[in-house]
Amino acid sequence: MISHLHPDHCVDLAGLHVAVKWDPRGWNAGRIPLYGPSGLHSYLNRSHAMPEGHSMETEFVFNVWQERQSVTVGPFTVTPFEVEHPCPEPYALRVEFDGPMGSSVLTYSGDTDACDALVEAARDADLFLCEAAYEEGREDHLRGIHLTGYRAGQAAAQANVHQLLLTHLPVWNSPTKARREGISAFSGPVGIAEPGYTYKVVPANVTISGALARPSTAD
Ligand SMILES: [Zn+2]
Ligand SMILES: [Zn+2]
Repeated sequence: MISHLHPDHCVDLAGLHVAVKWDPRGWNAGRIPLYGPSGLHSYLNRSHAMPEGHSMETEFVFNVWQERQSVTVGPFTVTPFEVEHPCPEPYALRVEFDGPMGSSVLTYSGDTDACDALVEAARDADLFLCEAAYEEGREDHLRGIHLTGYRAGQAAAQANVHQLLLTHLPVWNSPTKARREGISAFSGPVGIAEPGYTYKVVPANVTISGALARPSTAD
């Protein structure tokens, strides 16, 4: 599920395509279904320097997001909400799951600045995975592109989410500062997404062990 056509969000598909097409041991899982903006197929062709019209449909099944039209992916219902980011068709994704413990919702912001669609996508989410690429006071002149930790916290509060997990921090950001910004705008738990960690998305009335807070020794 591809939020938008910036390389940090989709260029890994180029390697995946090579694996599916060329692994000499074979690929036994069939074509991989992709969901993304309408330009995804031609974007991947260009990433391989293939001419327009070249087909990757022997490896991928291309499905195009339609604004706020839900699709079923395995056990999940996924709804794209068009957000505010400088590229065609940028989406936040709302992922809903009805399981034995009840219904739960994960919302992923994609890349976006603050906008109503982001709040709608995240409404009452159990876990809001939200980008915070900018810092308050550093990129205040750049709007319509990314969120700060503070603006992510504001969206979390407006959407009444249960937990906020900040992600998409460039290496020059302080995770501690991003988390502090989030906490200053949102009263629920705020964490920083970490490579290798597993986060459980459960209904709000279910208690699980493990906190979202980043280990206090790290910055
Ligand atoms: Zn982007
Ligand atoms: Zn990005």
